[in-house]
Amino acid sequence: MIWHPYTPMKYWPEAIGIVRGKGVYLTDEEGNEYIDAISSWWVNLHGHAHPYIAEKVSAQLSILEHCIFAGFTHEPAVELAERLLGILPGNMAKIFYSDNGSTAVEVAIKMALQYWANKNEPKKKIIAIDGAYHGDTFGAMSVSARSIFTTPFNDYLFDVEFIPFPENGSGESMEKLESLLKHGDVAAFIAEPLVQGTAGMRMYDEVVLNRYFELCKKYNAIIIADEVMTGFGRTGSLFACNRIEQHPDIICLSKGLTGGTMAMGITACTQTIFDAFYDDRSKTLYHGHSYTANPLTCVAALASLDLLLQDDCAKQRVYIEERHKEFATTINNAVKNVRCKGTVLAIELKTGEDTSYNNRERDFIYQFFLERKILMRPLGNIIYFMPPYCIAAKELEYVYDKIKELTNILTTK
Ligand SMILES: *Cc1c(COP(=O)(O)O)cnc(C)c1O
Repeated sequence: MIWHPYTPMKYWPEAIGIVRGKGVYLTDEEGNEYIDAISSWWVNLHGHAHPYIAEKVSAQLSILEHCIFAGFTHEPAVELAERLLGILPGNMAKIFYSDNGSTAVEVAIKMALQYWANKNEPKKKIIAIDGAYHGDTFGAMSVSARSIFTTPFNDYLFDVEFIPFPENGSGESMEKLESLLKHGDVAAFIAEPLVQGTAGMRMYDEVVLNRYFELCKKYNAIIIADEVMTGFGRTGSLFACNRIEQHPDIICLSKGLTGGTMAMGITACTQTIFDAFYDDRSKTLYHGHSYTANPLTCVAALASLDLLLQDDCAKQRVYIEERHKEFATTINNAVKNVRCKGTVLAIELKTGEDTSYNNRERDFIYQFFLERKILMRPLGNIIYFMPPYCIAAKELEYVYDKIKELTNILTTK
């Protein structure tokens, strides 16, 4: 009946029926309680069915559930924009609402391309990083790596220049970026700052990110920071771009934005970007979605922000990061690489086969954790642990313990 996303339906026909969530736990129809080790596709920040968010959203339901967002506005959207502009890195001046991470990226690409069109400057090229993932709509796919996700559509995606991922030093990556920028026709550079999520939680250094941005500034290309995954505390700071000196011109947000309650995308931009769309009707950004800035969703985001900015939540994030780092030094069996940034711990496992999304051990690893009542959805042979921030010490330790057990099994397998 239901066609599930990212699911080879023949091989994974069964979906587990979940009836309720509470804190880090998801409970299925049989009463099994799973620790949500991946924050339900990276969105959940404060645990499931958080009473504070629930209370705020239910109160809003009987005040205003939805309202067209052209020609009309409402307090939750205004308040959310104000509060985000107050904490976003750089000098963001405007908030554009949409529906999810992919649309936040679509809007960013459109803003960047139309910016140059509106200014009558012939800049059309977009640069991205090898392995990038920016979403599943056509524009977002175009700026993402060509992969098994995009193969059937590759002929329909627009051309993008990819620079090497700065894996072993950034030299080659930086040289390619600068040689492309030098042509003077680069409209925008888009990157997942510090952590490439879908590529396998691949991490790179702050110095590298800062240098990328510096080069883009030097050659006057628009910088798009896709903080859909890294935003809202995931990498340690509130946003990944908080950790560097240079600032992006456009920031994409989604995932943790509502604490995992409802879907929403945001594209924030500077006054300079906005101004290029201002003085003529023909320069309008003709983009919008029916549910843009839904009041319930805005209220969920506001409630999630309240929780995120509390001292307790900040302390939890520091605690998780410290424990991740300590744990990382204690495992070596069957481990090719282990890396950590903020609350994200990623372990690349040795499986006698190259690292890939369709690695043959993937299903074994997934089942291994499910049987131990942990939801851990590996990216091929890469497992990652990025729990809701409210996770307690004993749950953290339980998951570490099972990761260790897995690495021991893989060694003898
Ligand atoms: C998940 C993700 C997206 C796409 O977001 P959706 O809400 O799934 O459309 C875009 N960029 C990054 C970095 C992501 O991790």
